[in-house]
Amino acid sequence: MIRRIDHIGILVRSLAEALPLYTDRLGFSAEPPVELPEHHMRVQFVGMGNDRIELLQPTSPDSALGRVLATRGEGLLHLCLEVDDIETTLRDLERAGVRLVDDHARMTPHGLAAFLHPESVGGISIELRQARDSQNTTGIPSEAPAASGPSLARLSGRTRVVFTLGYPVAQTLSPAMMTAAFQSSGIDWVYLGWSVPPEGLAVAVEALRANENFAAGNVTAPHKETIIPLLDGLTPDAERVGAVNVILREGARFIGHTTDGHGFVASLREEGMEPRGKGVLILGAGGAAKAVGFALADAGVGEIWIGNRTLARAEAVARLIAEQAGAKAHPAALTEVAALLSRVDLVVNATSVGLQRDASPLFDYGLLRPPLFVTDLVFSPRETPFLRQARAQGCQTMNGLGMLLHQAVLNFVRWTGMEAPVPLMRRFLLEALDERERRGKAV
Ligand code: NAP
Repeated sequence: MIRRIDHIGILVRSLAEALPLYTDRLGFSAEPPVELPEHHMRVQFVGMGNDRIELLQPTSPDSALGRVLATRGEGLLHLCLEVDDIETTLRDLERAGVRLVDDHARMTPHGLAAFLHPESVGGISIELRQARDSQNTTGIPSEAPAASGPSLARLSGRTRVVFTLGYPVAQTLSPAMMTAAFQSSGIDWVYLGWSVPPEGLAVAVEALRANENFAAGNVTAPHKETIIPLLDGLTPDAERVGAVNVILREGARFIGHTTDGHGFVASLREEGMEPRGKGVLILGAGGAAKAVGFALADAGVGEIWIGNRTLARAEAVARLIAEQAGAKAHPAALTEVAALLSRVDLVVNATSVGLQRDASPLFDYGLLRPPLFVTDLVFSPRETPFLRQARAQGCQTMNGLGMLLHQAVLNFVRWTGMEAPVPLMRRFLLEALDERERRGKAV
């Protein structure tokens, strides 16, 4: 429900050019321009009763306001409305055909906001903001994490740290997602990347042991297996998979755990694919294939085939899954994969082929036809050639972003004992990916 008009603004390309019109010719007095992080530059006019009017200059053509301005030109009226519950309002508006400027609401320096496409709301720019004092039913904070919860100002010597250990880790999407989740839940933790080359891993683990602020950890490539001898134990899940993506701190002990596979199964279910009783073809026999294979076996799939370039690795993984999870698991050479497609419901590409520019297709992707459900664990690019062709031929497809989200959700619950704010985490994950792609294009 719309509660009130927060402010009225006018979107302009250049404050410097527009200001004299309002101050010199119309006689308004203006406060000095304020640069708001990421978002826009603002001049506020005073002496206009209780309401305020702002001139807004987008600081980047990529920001939500920049995109609004690009579609509608100079001098666009901007209305900022406060609503009780932004998620409900957006759902109602979407049903009425209103489009968002971005495909999701986003955190702004003022809190959660969404920008409606002028074309769909009568030609004016409308921003919706979650009212700051509204009952928050979504788990999404009504102000930006920087301004609420355990805010940056409250970071202290007591703040606990979660590190993700990898090499490199510059590309990780997790710090913003996890820190937002901690902050919105009132937990005084931050999440940071720690880039550790292989030869420094043992020293890094020792340093973590000596760090009383260290709360828990994630482990990513290339350390998922090599870290095991440096830990004090493994959960039964990690023991079977032979790889860890999580460090649990239990008193003085560091225990390795794995949530990649169960994150994948949760993401499948979110897309409406229940794996119980299904036939599955997993392409690849590396750590990810193993984690997904075990989790699918736990979820009660009917039969699993492991298809891999190096047949010996497929044989080893299939044997492990059969012996340790009691599933019907078989190895396959890539040349046999085409013949297996008619026997399965789900195809999981757990190879790294989607990351490689010039890799040859694993088999003829033209054979991927409905009703196959086709997934690729890669999420950047968001759609690999494998997924693109499957989708073009009518298959339901899914990339690996949901797996990343849901392993993070499982980690959050395990580390904190609290329910995870899933919509917020998804939003920050998508924003981090958007940002990474923008940076990638800019390089
Ligand atoms: P890995 O242990 O290095 O295994 C890579 C697999 O890909 C092996 O089976 C390898 O076959 C196969 N492969 C690589 N290049 C190939 C090519 N040109 N042709 C045919 N097969 C090829 O890697 P991993 O840790 O399992 O990760 C696999 C993928 O999953 C990566 O792309 C990773 O980014 C993704 N992943 C995603 C998530 C997520 O959260 N979404 C989590 C973990 C991993 P050989 O055995 O013959 O070498």
